[in-house]
This record gives sequence, C-alpha cells and structure tokens, in this order.
Amino acid sequence: MVKERARILVVGGGYVGMYTALRLQRRLKRELDRDEVEITVVTPDPYMTYQPFLPEAAAGAISPRHVVVPLRRVLARCRVLIGEATAVDHAKRTATVTTLATEEEGTGGQRLSYDELVLAPGSVSRTLPIPGLADHGIGFKTVEEAIGLRNHVIEQMDIASSTRDPAIRDAALTFVFVGGGFAGVEALGELEDMARYAARYYHNVQPEDMKWILVEASDRILPEVGEEMGRYTVTELRRRNIDVRLHTRLESCADRVAVLSDGARFPTRTVVWTAGVKPHPVLAASDLPRNGRGRLKCTPELSVDGSTHAWAAGDAAAVPDVTAEEPGRECAPNAQHAVRQAKVLADNIVHSLRGEPLETYAHAYAGSVASLGLHKGVAHVYGRKLKGYPAWFMHRAYHLSRVPTVNRKARVLAEWTLAGLFKREIVSLGSLEHPRAEFELAAGGKPSQDPGHNPKGSS
Ligand SMILES: Cc1cc2nc3c(=O)[nH]c(=O)nc-3n(C[C@H](O)[C@H](O)[C@H](O)COP(=O)(O)OP(=O)(O)OC[C@H]3O[C@@H](n4cnc5c(N)ncnc54)[C@H](O)[C@@H]3O)c2cc1C
Repeated sequence: MVKERARILVVGGGYVGMYTALRLQRRLKRELDRDEVEITVVTPDPYMTYQPFLPEAAAGAISPRHVVVPLRRVLARCRVLIGEATAVDHAKRTATVTTLATEEEGTGGQRLSYDELVLAPGSVSRTLPIPGLADHGIGFKTVEEAIGLRNHVIEQMDIASSTRDPAIRDAALTFVFVGGGFAGVEALGELEDMARYAARYYHNVQPEDMKWILVEASDRILPEVGEEMGRYTVTELRRRNIDVRLHTRLESCADRVAVLSDGARFPTRTVVWTAGVKPHPVLAASDLPRNGRGRLKCTPELSVDGSTHAWAAGDAAAVPDVTAEEPGRECAPNAQHAVRQAKVLADNIVHSLRGEPLETYAHAYAGSVASLGLHKGVAHVYGRKLKGYPAWFMHRAYHLSRVPTVNRKARVLAEWTLAGLFKREIVSLGSLEHPRAEFELAAGGKPSQDPGHNPKGSS
C-alpha cells in the first residue's frame, strides 16, 4: 500500500507518456481518488500522435483529428499540463517547465517538484549540416508536418498546372524523399499514390509528368521488414516509376536544387527529410546519464541507470534488449517497444511505491507491416512474409487494433469504409495555415505568415 503522497511527473505525452500515465491511472485508481498519488503529464500538445497513421493522414485517407488522441479525455485522473520541460535537476527532484502562460508572463518557466520521474520526450529528426536543408527541408514526424506536406504536394500540382514556364513546372512536379526507413517509404508510397489519383482531375498534369525520388545512403530500404521484403519494396516502387537511389546521399538542396552524391541534380520545391531520428535535446539539459548516442542509459527494469526514482522508455531511452543474442544491443526506437515498455514501466513504478520486486522488460521484435499506398503493402511479422493487398490489409487491421481508444478505432474504420464508397479527397487546405491572410488583405495590410494564433494552445 502507498504510504505517503507520491507525485509522479511524466515528461512527454506520446506513446510512452500516454500509456504509462494511463496504466498508472488504472492501477492507482483508489490512491488517486484518495489523493495519495498525483500524476502530472507535461507535454507540448494536448494530444498523443499515432505516428504510424501519419502517411495515411498525408494521403487524405484519415482525417488529422483521428490520428491524434485527446490526452485530457483519456487521462481524466491525471493533471495534463501543456508545456515543455526545458531542464531536469534530478538531484533536487525538480523539472523546469515552460507553458504558454509562463511565456506570456515572461517568468522563464515554472519549477515542478516530483518524487518519481518518467522522462519520455521521444526523438527529433536527425539532420545533417547539408546546405539548404534547414531552409527548405520538410520533416515528417508530426501531424502538422504530414498535413502540411499533403497541402504542399497538391499546391505543387496546382502550380504545375497553371504555369507556362517549363522550369517552374518541372521543379513543382519533382518530389525528393531522403531516408528509406518506415517514415520515408510510407510517406512517399502514400503521397505518390494520392498524387497519381489526383492527376486525373488536372487537364494538363499526367502521372508520368511527376518525378518521385527516394534517396537512401545504405544498400537497402525498410530494414524493419527484413532484407528480402526490403528488396521487394525497391522493385515495387521502381515498377511504379519511382526513382529509388541506393548508396546515395543528398549533398545540397540550396537554391531549390537537390544535388545527390551520384552527381544527379534535380530542381525541386520538395525535399522531405526522413533520414532517422536522434534523442530529444532536452535530455542534455538533465543530470541523468546518457550513452554515446544521447539516449538515457536504462536498466532492463526501465529505471535510469544508477539513479533512483527516475524512469525512461521509448525513443529517448537506451534499454538493453535482453532477448538479443549479441550482448550490448539496445531496443530499437519504435512503437512496438514503446507501448510494451510503457506497461512494464508503469507496473514497476507501482511495484516500487509498494516495495515489491521489479519486472524485467523483455520483448523480441516481432517484425513490421508497412503501407505503400492504397491496396499496396509489405509485411514481415512473426516469420510470415506478405506482399501487395494481403500485406496492406494486415497493415490496416494491425494498426486499427493498435490505435488507442474505441472512439478512434470507430472513427478511423468509418473513414476507411466511406473512402471505399466515395472518391478520395484531393483538396488542399493550405490556407488554413494562414487564417488571417484574407482579413489582413481586406483591412489594407500586408498578409503576414503568422497563423494568428497558436493552435496547439487552443485545446
Ligand atoms: C511517420 C512515422 C511512422 C512510424 N511508423 C511506425 C510503425 O509503423 N511501427 C512502429 O513500431 N513505429 C513507427 N514509428 C516510430 C514510433 O512512432 C516511435 O518509435 C514512438 O512514437 C516512440 O514513442 P515515444 O513515446 O518514445 O515518443 P513519442 O511518441 O514521439 O512521444 C514523445 C512526446 O514527448 C513530447 N515532448 C517532446 N519534448 C518535450 C519536452 N521538452 N517536454 C515535454 N514533452 C515533450 C512530444 O511532443 C511527444 O508528445 C513511426 C514514426 C514516424 C515518425
């Protein structure tokens, strides 16, 4: 039984943060009701993003609202604080958090004290100092980026359709994706499929007019589905006229020209950067131990190595893979581990509060499923290899079973069903990103690029 009031601080409202808080909320229901335990979740957005659905959101198969899970509703017994942890002083058991309010007040952040810390800020895109990348590159980790990219692709088709300048048209219809992991391959597969479909509504844009290029530095793509299925994916994408370039790197995208290491040059307005992730930089602002790659050093029980009352999991944590044959391997940064780790992590916090022995995290990677567009996919799960429609169906069935809450499952299923009956949405709502532009113009001002308000703060 918990004796004193325990304050649990969860940093991050993604896979690990949400599932940990959810399980703690269920397991500590009585203690929460009696005010013996307090759970605070600090996260910049009022929602958890189900990232495996981002490619389908970009293709318009799922609406953005259904790719995210509202944290306040799901975590009704927790305190959800919209903000960002900027530093953690674990020795003093405090975290500094900035919120929209602290920014307004100019106070530089508020200090939160805790007894147990769960540090799960995930990862950010791993970029390289490539000329032009910071100015022109587009990431693909958030729902805003996925919807922004969808709008951008349709807008390029509109530009190509209306210009008389062949150079502008060519650049608008050239789409370069860098990085052949999950995010890059699925995003490219879904968007190419969507653009190919949308082209039928343009009198002067044919699918053959578009260039879709996938640039990958190593000798294979989609390592998550194994070598054979990775080779199949290359063949399948090339069959669709997608230019897959292995052993190739992006060297520059300055002046809107993508220059590749094999000497090719593509004038383009679209460079999507999906070349891997690195642990969130906030970890460097903590006094907790990190490994050479910046992940928090963790034990197989998911506590931070050498520290008491600090826990971590997911992309931010280097958790030993106790199922691996070679010693020293870490669990890969993926949702499969993040969800399962969150469950063990929450249970271990409860064990620790109750003075019980801790559990060890052990999960052997089960394989993966990936969508390559409507009715196209690839899968390698528990030794079974699937291609084409069966793999795509498995992808949808798997993710439908995994997306959190019955509410979200029902909405996603309804959308897929309706999309089967009616045609795809091919509209771009890019102007949503600048809602004040028209009014500013009407009022005689110059339209700014300022969206007018921060949508993240409007939960
Ligand atoms: C496009 C895409 C497709 C993917 N598809 C798959 C797939 O099919 N299968 C699979 O297994 N994996 C997939 N992944 C990987 C998977 O989504 C991640 O491994 C998983 O989200 C990691 O969970 P996490 O909790 O560590 O991080 P996240 O889920 O990213 O959560 C981190 C949370 O912390 C918040 N945060 C960040 N900084 C701070 C701060 N300073 N203070 C407070 N909060 C902060 C973030 O806003 C976020 O809410 C995909 C990833 C992407 C981008």
